[in-house]
Amino acid sequence: MRIIVQNAKCQGHARCAAHAPHIFKLDDAGYILAGNIEVAEGEELTASRGARSCPERALKLDRQPCSTSEPDVIPPRVRRA
Ligand code: SF4
Repeated sequence: MRIIVQNAKCQGHARCAAHAPHIFKLDDAGYILAGNIEVAEGEELTASRGARSCPERALKLDRQPCSTSEPDVIPPRVRRA
């Protein structure tokens, strides 16, 4: 699971970080840092609570599994005789 961060919507309420400061990192002014957040296994519930607490809806849940295991090279097809 990951959190899609829409920085342009962030108004610096810091509610997300109040739920999970180790997941939602803020800058010195209290705005969420740029970049989507990959949620570690076991942290899904805490992360989703933090994301849903955002009054600006700047944090969107993406429950698709991370695609880090995709191969860089697609193997050639095997021809059958
Ligand atoms: S709760 Fe929403 S608006 Fe507030 S800091 Fe987090 S992302 Fe930004």
